[in-house]
Parts: sequence; structure tokens; C-alpha cells
Amino acid sequence: MNETCPKCDREQPVDQFYADKRNRTGRMRICKNCFCDRMRRYRGRMRNNPEWVAKERARCQAKDKGRKRSGKRRSVPTCQTF
Ligand SMILES: [Zn+2]
Repeated sequence: MNETCPKCDREQPVDQFYADKRNRTGRMRICKNCFCDRMRRYRGRMRNNPEWVAKERARCQAKDKGRKRSGKRRSVPTCQTF
């Protein structure tokens, strides 16, 4: 099954899209590449904001702990940029 990313306008297999439970389709509308690209830019901007960095770091650590316990495969983007 393929899905077209509205951002890069490329048709790609669904495993090239991150899961998003909030979305009706259960997947993000934009592909992994576009999502990473957007996050990189967003993080680059927010990096100057110490409050955001602290909050984001705490959020990622909490998520990591939960993942280890449940032993689930990672389908959610992580915060390796820090
Ligand atoms: Zn894309």
C-alpha cells in the first residue's frame, strides 16, 4: 500500500510514514523524510530557547523509559539531536 506525501509529492510505501494515533488514518500525512526535515528546522530554531530544550529533554527521557519497559519496537521519532 502506498501513500502520497503532500509535502514532497512523492508516492511511498506506508512504512515510510510515522505512526500517529491522533490521525484518522493512524499515520502522519507527511513522510518520514519530510517530518525529520521539519523537526530539524524546528529544533534549530527552538534550540535558542533554554526553556524548550529542558522541557523537550525531560519528555524524551520519560518516553525512553516507557519504551524500555514495554519492549515495543520504535515507531516514534526520537530526540537524537540532543
Ligand atoms: Zn515527504
